[in-house]
Amino acid sequence: MKILDYCYILLQRFVWKMMGRCRKCGGIMKPGDYLENTWVGGDLDFHSDQFPVTFYQGGKGKFIKNGCLKCVYCGWSISD
Ligand SMILES: [Zn+2]
Repeated sequence: MKILDYCYILLQRFVWKMMGRCRKCGGIMKPGDYLENTWVGGDLDFHSDQFPVTFYQGGKGKFIKNGCLKCVYCGWSISD
């Protein structure tokens, strides 16, 4: 891939993001619900540990209404 092509793709994605379009296919983004991952755990691995280091995704998840934008074409979603 030529460096110019790469720059073009980056620029295109940037423009799509600015326009609120899907970063993958440029489709229209619509508000949708999503389930936010929650983190559980926090046990100390060793007695010498000062802070818990082991976390894993689990729990019920947090349901967020209209918390994300979803592409109507490919289903790609963003939550930021
Ligand atoms: Zn898309």
